[in-house]
Amino acid sequence: MAFPLFDRPADEPSRFVGFSGGRIDRLSENRSEDSLPAALADPDARYLIQASGRMWLKQAGEAFDPWFARTEIDVLPVVLDKAIFLGLQDGRPVIALPGKAEPEALPEPLKAIDNRSVYVQGLADEPTLGAVALAASLLAWNAATRFCGRCGSPTEMRIGGYKRKCTGCGAESFPRTDPVAIMLTVTRERCLLGRSPHFPPGMYSALAGFIEPGETIEDAVRRETFEESGIRIGRVAYHASQPWPFPHSLMIGCFGEALDETIDADLTELEDCRWFTREETRAIVAGTHAGGVRMPPPGAIAAHLIKTWAGSD
Ligand SMILES: [Zn+2]
Repeated sequence: MAFPLFDRPADEPSRFVGFSGGRIDRLSENRSEDSLPAALADPDARYLIQASGRMWLKQAGEAFDPWFARTEIDVLPVVLDKAIFLGLQDGRPVIALPGKAEPEALPEPLKAIDNRSVYVQGLADEPTLGAVALAASLLAWNAATRFCGRCGSPTEMRIGGYKRKCTGCGAESFPRTDPVAIMLTVTRERCLLGRSPHFPPGMYSALAGFIEPGETIEDAVRRETFEESGIRIGRVAYHASQPWPFPHSLMIGCFGEALDETIDADLTELEDCRWFTREETRAIVAGTHAGGVRMPPPGAIAAHLIKTWAGSD
């Protein structure tokens, strides 16, 4: 049996998806109650600000900058006592803060831009996108975990925002990650793409769904594909993963081997679901599909699954 490690290319496919370029050292083993106060006291600390799922960025012409210095923070409407210490990047503390102003109330040159657009429109480099992803997820988790799930008492932030502790029963909660299977179903000649009603015009993508408790990734791929398309899947191969922390998803990208080709789509979830030949799929990747079918945005793991299959023999 072939051992599935040493013959792999050194460049992991996950390195090429959006939000995977984060370089923050989370200091997971060395966090204490002093980490956040020390970071806040450091004049070299850099800050990211989020409010209502939107990143605050300074606009200078075509350029956008989401990094703020302490001197800038002190005059902005932010909630300093809900600061989260994300870790160190290039030796400097990185802190995430909730903002408390509506997008239209922000002073110039600030703009509040939703996280997905920051990435789709290429407003930040990869290390910054990785930091944005971490900030968005931890801010959302801390804001949504204010009460204990066990006894209902208020919880308090610990170790700079990577843990919360109940003030009543002492139970500890940790940030969550929700696994999602995203799979390109293929035969030797064709791949299966679907279209959700909320997609931009012309866009088709790989099918996806949350992995359920007690389920393997492979079983989730088979179940979700059958539920959405009526296609039964045999073998499943993991390809790459993508953090999608809005708020807590981890996309787990796989290829699934179709055992039959008769589509019976769930039209409550999908507007359309079709097979595409390799030639058609290559045209979709190249942006020249005769029917105007388009790919998901570059950097999306679905785009990488589609490109990888289209480029194979
Ligand atoms: Zn409790």
